[in-house]
Amino acid sequence: MDGITSVTRTVNYESKTRAVDSKTPVSFSLRIREVERNLVRNGSGRRENLIKQRTVASPAIGFEIPSCFLAGEETCRGYVEYALSKTIIPSWIQPFILPQICKDSNIQEGKRSGFIVEAQVEAVKETYFNNCIDLNDYDSEGRRIRAEPDCPICLQEFGRRRIITKLRCCDHSFHRDCILTWLGRKPSCPTCRDDIHNPRPKKFTQKKVYFD
Ligand SMILES: [Zn+2]
Ligand SMILES: [Zn+2]
Repeated sequence: MDGITSVTRTVNYESKTRAVDSKTPVSFSLRIREVERNLVRNGSGRRENLIKQRTVASPAIGFEIPSCFLAGEETCRGYVEYALSKTIIPSWIQPFILPQICKDSNIQEGKRSGFIVEAQVEAVKETYFNNCIDLNDYDSEGRRIRAEPDCPICLQEFGRRRIITKLRCCDHSFHRDCILTWLGRKPSCPTCRDDIHNPRPKKFTQKKVYFD
């Protein structure tokens, strides 16, 4: 929960094999479903709000493993790594599926006819924006948060239809889309440069109360 963003990645690989009449002993057909979610985690981490989700499904991605690369585990791994790098499979997914592909190819080794391995891959990447923005458009007394007329990032009017989000460190407001994209790159406020992790002390702090 430290830091402004944290990312979790999970990849699920499921495969089945079927015999084909082919000179190539093992060939792969992979379908990748990639899901990207942005979530905001507030308070002690118990409240999560999904703010954006994107799903991309690939057509079947195929490659073959020539038999000379099935001789040993290391050779196979090296070849599969190379073959994956030539595909459109996103690079963050590749290390997750590499060991499973090697395992599938070794099972087929020694069989005389060719085999095709058909794998479904579900890859989920979740980015959490931790406790740094206020998803409420209203303050604790129910008043709408006062904002500048324009979003300082895209310089477009706030308008009614887009969601406005306030940074906790300094109370500056932005379009939610705009500030989340910004925070994905830089952990500071675009308006006052306040560090999200380490905000400057507020100018007007509460008076200290001393007890006898
Ligand atoms: Zn904007
Ligand atoms: Zn600010």
